[in-house]
Amino acid sequence: MTDDTTTDTTHGQSLAGLFTCSECDHYERVGDEVGQGECRRYPPKVFPAQSPQGGLAFVSAWPRVRHDNRCGEFEQEDPPADRH
Ligand code: SF4
Repeated sequence: MTDDTTTDTTHGQSLAGLFTCSECDHYERVGDEVGQGECRRYPPKVFPAQSPQGGLAFVSAWPRVRHDNRCGEFEQEDPPADRH
């Protein structure tokens, strides 16, 4: 599988980053994490997880996405801002 973007690893930014998650109005950066964030296009989803006791649990969260990904729901943020 090939990656169709060129990434500047110094800044964690996509150099071919037009229409990527990091430029999308639905993308939210999470804390100090670089290169990924949450997609808030839709309400949180329920995911399976391991409970503290080792059993099955369920948590709700927004899906994590890479900054240089994209999907068909992309909407350009207005005005553009640096949220990488
Ligand atoms: S997954 Fe789609 S809707 Fe979500 S942030 Fe990325 S481009 Fe936007």
